[in-house]
Amino acid sequence: MKEFFMLYSYAGVILVVNMTTGEIEKQPLNEQYARDYVGGRGLGARYLYDLLKPGIDPLSADNVIIMMTGPFTGTGIYSCQKYEWVSKSPLTNIYLCSNSGGKLGVNLKRSGYDGIIIKGKADGPKYIYIDGDNVEIRDASFVWGKMVSEVQNSIKEKSGADTVVCTGLSADLPNPVKFAGVYDGLRCSGRGGLGAVFASKNLKAIAVNSTEKKDAFQIYDLSGLKETLHGLIQDMKTNAVTGEQLPKFGSIIWMDTTAEFGILPSKNYQEILTYPEIEGKIDTKGFEKEVTKDEESSFVNCLNCPIKSGHVVTPDRGEWAGKPTKGPEFETAWSLGANVGIIDYGHIIAANKACNEYGIDTISVGGVIGFAMECYQKGLLDKNKVDGNLLRWGSSEAVLGMIKKIGIREDWLGDILADGVRSASKKIGHESEKFALHVKGMEVPAYDPRGVWGMGLTYATSIRGACHLKSWTVASEFQNFDPISTEGKAGLVKGIQDLRSVLDSLIVCFFAGRAITKDWIVKLINSVTDFGWKVEDIDTIGARIYNLERLLATREGVTMKDDLLPYRIMEEPLTGGQSEGTRITQENIEKMLQEYYDMRGWNKEGIPTSDIV
Ligand code: SF4
Repeated sequence: MKEFFMLYSYAGVILVVNMTTGEIEKQPLNEQYARDYVGGRGLGARYLYDLLKPGIDPLSADNVIIMMTGPFTGTGIYSCQKYEWVSKSPLTNIYLCSNSGGKLGVNLKRSGYDGIIIKGKADGPKYIYIDGDNVEIRDASFVWGKMVSEVQNSIKEKSGADTVVCTGLSADLPNPVKFAGVYDGLRCSGRGGLGAVFASKNLKAIAVNSTEKKDAFQIYDLSGLKETLHGLIQDMKTNAVTGEQLPKFGSIIWMDTTAEFGILPSKNYQEILTYPEIEGKIDTKGFEKEVTKDEESSFVNCLNCPIKSGHVVTPDRGEWAGKPTKGPEFETAWSLGANVGIIDYGHIIAANKACNEYGIDTISVGGVIGFAMECYQKGLLDKNKVDGNLLRWGSSEAVLGMIKKIGIREDWLGDILADGVRSASKKIGHESEKFALHVKGMEVPAYDPRGVWGMGLTYATSIRGACHLKSWTVASEFQNFDPISTEGKAGLVKGIQDLRSVLDSLIVCFFAGRAITKDWIVKLINSVTDFGWKVEDIDTIGARIYNLERLLATREGVTMKDDLLPYRIMEEPLTGGQSEGTRITQENIEKMLQEYYDMRGWNKEGIPTSDIV
């Protein structure tokens, strides 16, 4: 018999671990929070709102880490086995949400827990071990300061755990790299520095055994779910993106698209790469040549996913040469390739692997290296303090060398870059902040918004800083809008953000969202729970989640001034590509912001009024 209440498709229990006192508590899930904020990102944000004091240092014991599964986790719904982390980011100093593939979510929920709340700070390196009802805080000094794969292998060997989610070496430095991530097998929560928050609590890993608890959770309408899944798989297979392109090339498909649309930036957003410049090199054709086709691919893909967007590749250089691993995502291929002037998958694969072993976010790494290379190009760096050989555009050796320097905070430059581009530009000075590409401290991703203005509003209003995942407008803008206009962008961005908030709360993979439409979501949620959603509920719940997350940011002091775009995007026209000469002026972004705030019911400073949450 269940100890707590019964809410279909929820385990009903949250594990609360206090790293300071060693207390481990099993709290009943707040049913109203689950109904209102669903799971994953929304539910995590709701708990964080209660538990996180505004103004605290993200690397102090006062910070809180929350991991949440969703009502789809572990139910057998395709491509829905991810889970979400929320915390306060040491990179941006505001709210952070970040999801991950891998096995932690499914194993945790099948063990009888919807999520974990981690507070305080242990007196030495520890990992949390979970095997059904048995939860322990164990010594992790034997893996402190080790690379990601070594940590995972060592803890698995010692504990017998099936899943080990951990940080790498860069999190364990006395001053952790501010964009250190958390790694579940070959999948990760890269953005925003969750790994540094782990380390600040002396937490190295979470290890979970795949012990399945009988009746850990129950499904409301099992036969309805089976029928729905039967229909859904047909749609996923016939959808061109989820049935054909992603299985073949993974997210690299967007390399071709961005180059064709003239929005693929290069050399720290100084230039645009067009399709002929990348054809056969870092486009899908170039990627296809790298895929090790005879290798079993289950170790690079998420559980129960028919899309299988991950591909096996093998680095041809660097410390991990010859060892099969997961191929880069598009954003990584851009940041560690095009953004540093390299159009060669041999390099990108090795650089990706190095970042994943040090345990640092590939987008931020490519962002800070591109920034440093431009500083060197412009003569802003003291030649006595830096090695110019490591700051040459287009050099694989240079980028691999810089990854190592950042990963261990070596030398003056490696140390300042490890704090992110916003902080580094302040230390370098000489107006370098004009080409420090970030929003709210988070380095920008791969879509140059000067050629697709909705992505400008996306970066400006994304809840964790510059992020493409919260409202990816590219396809809609080129199909249904004028991409270099403010017209209609506020509504477009808000609509996608609200939908994505719900998908991240259920949790549905970003890629699968191309086939899992609102109609499917309603059928699925009403099969696994008794919530009785209608299609229009999705927008209402999504807006509720987004408003709450914005409050988490505004109570830390975020206002409209923080929603502006980097100087380069607002002041320097695009060079190259079909939208050459365009920029999003401050007037343009302010116009879109005011329309967007109005639609959300926020005031002119972008602050939600208390009656809309
Ligand atoms: S599409 Fe890719 S990232 Fe998404 S669930 Fe499947 S394997 Fe994981």
